[in-house]
Amino acid sequence: MAATAAARIVIENVAIATVDAQDTEYASGHVVVAGNRIESVGAGKAPEGLENVVRRIDGTGHLVTPGLVNTHHHFYQWITRGLATDHNLFNWLVALYPTWARIDEPMARSAAQGSLAMMARGGVTTAMDHHYVFPKDSGDLSSAIIGAASEMGVRFTLARGSMDRSEKDGGLPPDFAVETLEGALASTEATIDQHHDASFGSMTQIAVAPCSPFSVSTELMKQGAELARRRGVRLHTHGSETVEEEQFCKELFGMGPTDYFESTGWLGSDVWMAHCVHMNDSDIAAFARTGTGVAHCPSSNARLGAGIARVPDMLKSGVPVGLGVDGTASNESGELHTELRNALLINRLGAHREAALNARQALRLGTYGGAQVLGRAAEIGSLEPGKLADLVLWKMDTLAHASIADPVTALIFGAAAPVTLSLVNGRTVVEDSRLTTVDEDAIARSTREQAQRLARIAAQV
Ligand SMILES: [Zn+2]
Repeated sequence: MAATAAARIVIENVAIATVDAQDTEYASGHVVVAGNRIESVGAGKAPEGLENVVRRIDGTGHLVTPGLVNTHHHFYQWITRGLATDHNLFNWLVALYPTWARIDEPMARSAAQGSLAMMARGGVTTAMDHHYVFPKDSGDLSSAIIGAASEMGVRFTLARGSMDRSEKDGGLPPDFAVETLEGALASTEATIDQHHDASFGSMTQIAVAPCSPFSVSTELMKQGAELARRRGVRLHTHGSETVEEEQFCKELFGMGPTDYFESTGWLGSDVWMAHCVHMNDSDIAAFARTGTGVAHCPSSNARLGAGIARVPDMLKSGVPVGLGVDGTASNESGELHTELRNALLINRLGAHREAALNARQALRLGTYGGAQVLGRAAEIGSLEPGKLADLVLWKMDTLAHASIADPVTALIFGAAAPVTLSLVNGRTVVEDSRLTTVDEDAIARSTREQAQRLARIAAQV
């Protein structure tokens, strides 16, 4: 006798968008999950005679897609939403840094829970947090954030950020909000030692992630890249977000952001960068040549008046592109599925107009594209046998979508669809639009308390 077969979940009578290389879709098909893997996907009913089926789901009226993958976020901002609402990036940062520099471990944990809950409820199965504010004596923020993700059961990348260029060195953050070069590097490496799991199916990975050219020294950029490559982890930062950043780089470094990144070792297939709004043709060619990825954050770019990233040109050149919520102080919705819609709509306001992106491309950005930029395309991002069982069953037969014939069009162009079921690693994380692993109402209460506590502390300084 073989060892006990893995528990199977069978979904049938469901529309399927696999987001595989051929964009294979089935109007009515099946998905079989065995343990934490997808076992089979195809047209019609599931194969007969399957053993150890613990759950059989009739997916009539639903669309199943790969789980959404978020590639850029700042969880701590969940408790500073709705502030500086009419500012551009630099003014918004200057307004908020003094408050952010007061965060502590309970605040970081609660804000992470809020950010993760909002995303998971809306179909995100892989989350990331670019955390770069580490005030002195604030506790073990990285472990608090990672703990929140593992408690919820969401696959997670912590991009361990850092800042060491404060006002006294010509940077944007106040002096008290930054770390030293040596301290930032040592803490980042300790986080890799403690938490990074490189194995297939890993639930926790760490990336090296100095914050941005205007808050990080050239030495930290260079040594951060060396550290990441020595340890075999990925590299993440903000790049080419605004015209002001471009001017800052030209004045301080005598070159634009992309050339600066190249000069510090920050282009490569192990790097992904948030925003990339202000890129000329040679910048895009440099990203394509090196395989550098992009986290496109359309709502945040609109909120801060940053501009429209050239996503159609990037895709045409072969640049890997995923989607990002960005921090919720610049995208208060905190949801990723709205970014699929906004990526499509906002790019149509750019040079390519209606030819910019279609619904299938938008779905690909939010799934397979995200998996690519996180370096996990062999594991997640499409529904294919052998890949991890990260998938979402979207309810498409309610008032919001029932009159749209094509389910992918309905999902992308229509209102946010309710999530009937979300699996991460084969485990149920959302059922009938409610989180199953955590108490959503308790998280809402705690985030409000921590937001009020942070506002009080910031007001006292
Ligand atoms: Zn950001």
